[in-house]
Amino acid sequence: MSQSFEDKIVLITGGAGGIGQAGAKEFLDRGASVVLVDLNEEALKQASENLGSDKVHTITGDVTDEESVKNYVEETVEKFDKIDVFFNNAGINGPFKNIKDLDKKEFDMIMNINTTGVFLGMKYVIRQMEQQGHGAIVNTASNAAYIGSAGMAGYIASKHAVAGLTKTAALEVAGDNIRVNAVAPAAIDTDMLSDIQNNLTPGEPEKSGEAIKQGIPFGRFGTPEEVAKVVAFLASDDAKFVTGSLYNVDGGMQAD
Ligand code: NAD
Repeated sequence: MSQSFEDKIVLITGGAGGIGQAGAKEFLDRGASVVLVDLNEEALKQASENLGSDKVHTITGDVTDEESVKNYVEETVEKFDKIDVFFNNAGINGPFKNIKDLDKKEFDMIMNINTTGVFLGMKYVIRQMEQQGHGAIVNTASNAAYIGSAGMAGYIASKHAVAGLTKTAALEVAGDNIRVNAVAPAAIDTDMLSDIQNNLTPGEPEKSGEAIKQGIPFGRFGTPEEVAKVVAFLASDDAKFVTGSLYNVDGGMQAD
């Protein structure tokens, strides 16, 4: 049977996006209250409506801005007294250009959201989890944490960094009853993937979609719900001896 999250408080960044919302639904279904943080206020309203639960609280925030991060952590603790689970998930894929054509501004933007955002989130959430004496953090890395990919320097570098941050944080808090892990999804059917397809084959997303599927041993895209189940496992006591790990949710891509 799936572990219950009754009376647990789950904080999710990128909470209005595909994987964030699926995570919210999984934790809500298991009894938790969830706090969704996202830059996109409209999408947050829509997410809250989609989830249709009075156990959803939303905060408009920017994971790259230290004050905003402090604020989303403080607001969560003011309202709910604690943070049991932190799903540190906001991210973008960024412009698709080879390194020689990529502006520093573009590279910095991806690194700021995908890496600095994950760092800042952990910085303030770990302080809170140390005070309360427990917690579980799940960062969203990617298949991109292991591989190179032409035209995706910012995304690849940023997700390699998330893997490093995850392992380092896990060691720093190993004695504090806090676990830190990451999921490493690949080709999950969300707006981000549609964006990638549209960039690879403009106007013909199905074409690159088929090519991507051919590189996945399961021959299909993953669903946000399939990622959410692994996140909930990592956040639960079922994974109580698991820390510093990257869990692949990729239809076999890393095995190939
Ligand atoms: P998505 O675009 O549906 O969701 C991402 C969310 O992050 C959006 O709601 C966006 O508004 C939010 N966001 C962006 N910048 C932000 C900021 N500065 N502050 C706060 N929120 C911000 O994409 P998704 O597929 O749900 O992606 C979620 C995570 O999963 C990302 O970290 C992504 O890199 C990772 N991932 C996705 C895939 C995939 O195939 N979809 C594969 C591997 C990893």
